[in-house]
Amino acid sequence: MAETPCILDARIPGGPLADKWQRYQADVKLVSPANKRKYRVIVVGSGLAGASAAASLAELGYQVDCFTFHDSPRRAHSVAAQGGINAAKNYRNDGDSVERLFRDTVKGGDYRSREANVYRLAEISNQIIDHCVAQGIPFARDYGGYLDNRSFGGAQVARTFYARGQTGQQLLLGAYGALSRQIHAGQVRMHTRTEMLDLVVDNGRAQGIITRRLTDGRIERHRADAVVLATGGYSNIFYLSTNAIACNVTATYRAYRRGACFANPSFTQIHPTCIPAAEDHQSKLTLMSESLRNDGRIWVPRAAHDDRPASTIPDEERDYYLERLYPAYGNLSPRDISSRAAKAVCDEGRGVGPTGHGVYLDFSEAIGRLGEKVMSDRYGNLFAMYERITGEDPWKVPMRIYPAAHYTMGGLWVDYELTTTVPGLYAIGEANFSDHGANRLGASALMQGLADGYFILPITIGRYLAGSTPAPSDTAGAAFDEADSSIRERLDRLVATGGRTPVETFHRRLGELMWEHCGMSRERSGLETALQEIPALREEFWDNICVCGGSEEFNVVLEKAGRVADYLEFAEVMVRDALEREESCGAHFRVEHQTGGGEAKRDDENFAHVATWMYQGDDKVPLRRTEPLAFEHLALAERDYR
Ligand SMILES: Cc1cc2nc3c(=O)[nH]c(=O)nc-3n(C[C@H](O)[C@H](O)[C@H](O)COP(=O)(O)OP(=O)(O)OC[C@H]3O[C@@H](n4cnc5c(N)ncnc54)[C@H](O)[C@@H]3O)c2cc1C
Repeated sequence: MAETPCILDARIPGGPLADKWQRYQADVKLVSPANKRKYRVIVVGSGLAGASAAASLAELGYQVDCFTFHDSPRRAHSVAAQGGINAAKNYRNDGDSVERLFRDTVKGGDYRSREANVYRLAEISNQIIDHCVAQGIPFARDYGGYLDNRSFGGAQVARTFYARGQTGQQLLLGAYGALSRQIHAGQVRMHTRTEMLDLVVDNGRAQGIITRRLTDGRIERHRADAVVLATGGYSNIFYLSTNAIACNVTATYRAYRRGACFANPSFTQIHPTCIPAAEDHQSKLTLMSESLRNDGRIWVPRAAHDDRPASTIPDEERDYYLERLYPAYGNLSPRDISSRAAKAVCDEGRGVGPTGHGVYLDFSEAIGRLGEKVMSDRYGNLFAMYERITGEDPWKVPMRIYPAAHYTMGGLWVDYELTTTVPGLYAIGEANFSDHGANRLGASALMQGLADGYFILPITIGRYLAGSTPAPSDTAGAAFDEADSSIRERLDRLVATGGRTPVETFHRRLGELMWEHCGMSRERSGLETALQEIPALREEFWDNICVCGGSEEFNVVLEKAGRVADYLEFAEVMVRDALEREESCGAHFRVEHQTGGGEAKRDDENFAHVATWMYQGDDKVPLRRTEPLAFEHLALAERDYR
């Protein structure tokens, strides 16, 4: 058997950076309009990435099957996105351009992303806004009626388009509208409350998926000419995160087990502005949008253990530490840097609130300067949400915030065409390893998900389909049989264990372990401890898990147990990735690799690459394969936000 090459080829088109995407589109093989209807594409996921892809593919004429475990596409986690979506329109005339958005994104990601993809993303950002405005998305407008913008972290321009604090919801309604049109037209078959549990690969190509109907437990087979995973991120591996409770890694992890390389699994974004955990029994954390940092000032008392009420601490006894440390970007410093700075001041005993794990986000100055009406128009619903959750009124006292797990830059490795290492399998949105390198800038996830779904995948998938013969819909055959029976066995094993420990307990323990050893900062000794503790926890899970009810019925505990079982395997891949990357970059902060000033210290000579992991078998260490990153347009430089 031929040996698997250790270097991955992203198949980036030649030519100047700014021309690559235009040239690709001009050169790519097309499927003729009359032939498109002969091809069937499975899209798993109906968030912004999945809904936009399914609608666009159907609009082109392909037959589409779209799956979601939710009861409606509108419940995808994308609905929670608050702050906004970036685009290089330069409406403010403040110096923005495609080139600047590209540079900010590569720098923000600490030079661990692919130049060609990021440039394409910046170019497409402008098309997304036009498309969404045409759909009727109610973006905020200024007094003159023009689209308004605000700033997000890691940028010195205002390029974020927003719809109050509900940008994700409004964008999702737009994508859902486009999807619904295609469902009505018969081009999309929508499968709600249906969870993908395995990928079927035959002859080295993705041929379909195995699903479980969540309403009655029925296992079903689905065949298609190509499979697209748009299944979101996996920050919930930390148990406490800002993600919706149901977000999980199962679809991408199952694809990994079937041959798709998983890229940078340990690159996790810790968001600096979340409401701090209040008690031990909490199962969810709430994000306070980064947009609040446009007008909120972050501070802690200068003295340790100062428990006076915020309003009684005079200005000269406050430390506006981001403004002090990073004057050029101040409160809008990127997320990884702001999170670490918050942890550092809390570790010094200067944290606020009952647990000491909190810093102030203070609006008093902005309220005085802009008035309540302007502040309410900008942040009204976020203020109300904060008060509902904490019982404290941010109009009167500063918010308390603390970093929390939020977004996963890691995901399935994809080449320039968004194809994984399994031909016929695509990954889009947060499910792929994306264009954000080691740290995503705020308001760039929605941009990437919609660029993938509306504009990139519908073009690139044509090249693959044009070279393949439409498959029959028949789901018989050894590959389908094997995937189907392995899923049934696994589900039966979960219900047969008969243990006494609830799934939630295992998830919480895994989350604590991952946060401790593979969270905001990582260290060799801790990562090695995690590599020993995860298999032990997994063994305990399979001995003691308590799943009531059967597998062939509605069973929410079984659903969760399957997802946690996958987390317990995937956690090891994450830790291994963090251990092997002997440098700090972006959100990946290895304590051993820091500058004298405590900033992330990259090792470009040895780690200017995407690290991917390839499954080799249950008891084997996965194979590490890399994609070297070439910086031809931008010179590698130390990130500096001072
Ligand atoms: C609180 C919060 C606020 C945010 N705010 C912003 C913001 O202001 N700007 C920004 O750019 N980004 C923001 N983000 C990030 C952004 O919201 C997400 O990265 C993005 O919405 C992900 O979209 P997606 O389509 O890739 O995945 P999702 O929206 O998570 O959708 C995943 C879909 O896959 C389905 N699915 C998953 N697994 C399976 C399976 N096994 N079988 C069947 N279906 C499955 C789900 O049902 C769902 O339909 C925010 C994130 C959070 C947590």
